[in-house]
Amino acid sequence: MARVAVIGAGIVGACCAFTLIRDGHTVVLIDPAEPGGPHAASHGNGAWFSPASVVPMSVPGLWRQLPGMLLSREGPVRLRAAALPGLAPWLLRFLRAGATPERASAIAAALGPLLRGCAARHAQLAQDAGVPALVVRRGLLYAYPDREAFEREAFAWGLRRGQGVAWQVCEGEALRMLAPSLADAYRFGAHVPEGGHCTDPAAYVAALVAASERSGAQRLRAAALRLRLHAGRLAAVQTTQGEVVCDAAVIAAGINAVDLARQAGDRVPLAAERGYHAVFEMQGVALPVPVPVPVMPSDGRMANTPTRQGLRVAGQVEFAPPGAAPDWRRADLLVRQARRLWPALAGDVAVSRWMGQRPSTPDGLPVLGRASGCPDVLHAFGHGHVGMAAAPASAQLMADLLAGRTPGLDPGPYRAARFARAHSPGL
Ligand SMILES: Cc1cc2nc3c(=O)[nH]c(=O)nc-3n(C[C@H](O)[C@H](O)[C@H](O)COP(=O)(O)OP(=O)(O)OC[C@H]3O[C@@H](n4cnc5c(N)ncnc54)[C@H](O)[C@@H]3O)c2cc1C
Repeated sequence: MARVAVIGAGIVGACCAFTLIRDGHTVVLIDPAEPGGPHAASHGNGAWFSPASVVPMSVPGLWRQLPGMLLSREGPVRLRAAALPGLAPWLLRFLRAGATPERASAIAAALGPLLRGCAARHAQLAQDAGVPALVVRRGLLYAYPDREAFEREAFAWGLRRGQGVAWQVCEGEALRMLAPSLADAYRFGAHVPEGGHCTDPAAYVAALVAASERSGAQRLRAAALRLRLHAGRLAAVQTTQGEVVCDAAVIAAGINAVDLARQAGDRVPLAAERGYHAVFEMQGVALPVPVPVPVMPSDGRMANTPTRQGLRVAGQVEFAPPGAAPDWRRADLLVRQARRLWPALAGDVAVSRWMGQRPSTPDGLPVLGRASGCPDVLHAFGHGHVGMAAAPASAQLMADLLAGRTPGLDPGPYRAARFARAHSPGL
């Protein structure tokens, strides 16, 4: 059994630490910040565990719509002009990734096994960590104005069917049962019963870390700075609090993984796809509107999720220069859309706002598996829009690789070498 440094305690690092410690390894979990804190993408996301998220962001024909989408102030995607020079190569790769039906299907086929059974996997992890109530399995609802709008998304639903995702069509009374307060304008739904959601992602990450510590993991409040390699093998991880001598390291540092991955021989194009949320806060003990099942409207593209804090609406993609201040108008847009979706929210409900960074590769697939320049370094980052859902399967892959077992998941599609290799491993 190995001494493993897990770098990063977001949902991916937390799942890795919990899985590895129970697989018999010695684990040191390195993160300078509080697990589940607002600095991390894992804090404020839509909280969906969706097997239906196999549909890539890049789909055929997107290149025709993208310029208009990027320039629209009210749309789901926004590009700040100052970000364009740095982002252009990533954007081109992104558009190419899903440019044909075959390419989009290949991405869906790679996401399928990562997302299959994700809600059940989380339910088990939450149970084992002593927080079963944080994972709810009542399915997820995709809402449309009418059947025609649903049928216009036949390509996306075909990709889902191809990955074994099942859904039930619901109209009329069946739809009202699932979403009693939904605006009358939505008369058609596709309910994915296998999906689930988390009622408090921040508390869930913290609970997984706490459970790992109870099982013997050591937590180090430090930032990993360098991987010290010797003769092509990992000797230690150098941190702001000294060296962690280890046999293996898992890079799970979200948007900050790029530099560490480069030290292990892989140059990965990672963009910060910024997203926002707004929470209509709980009043007393009740949500302002009853939302028994999370809802994604076909127009607006935002997750509407019942959480312990209130109704969370999360979405938006914003590309901005690194370090740029949040543009809270993106969160205000979510608030306006939510008020259209749930007319009962029109009143004076307190709203809190958050911005976070999705660690996104251009092809929408995470980077998982052994680093090109050092077999002791494992990548577990780049989960983009699906990190909550895909974290347990990613962690299991890390455990299988470290134990020398044949992985249940073929790591081929996720390898870092699909991007250009860095020239100087260890530098
Ligand atoms: C608005 C929004 C909605 C979303 N909705 C969903 C959804 O509904 N379902 C879903 O599956 N996904 C969703 N996502 C995506 C999901 O949130 C991310 O993919 C996921 O949280 C990434 O997790 P992570 O652990 O890789 O990164 P993070 O959560 O960002 O964690 C990375 C951690 O690494 C630490 N770190 C960074 N650098 C270092 C270093 N040098 N040394 C040590 N530690 C370091 C950080 O402090 C941080 O704690 C959404 C994202 C956003 C922004």
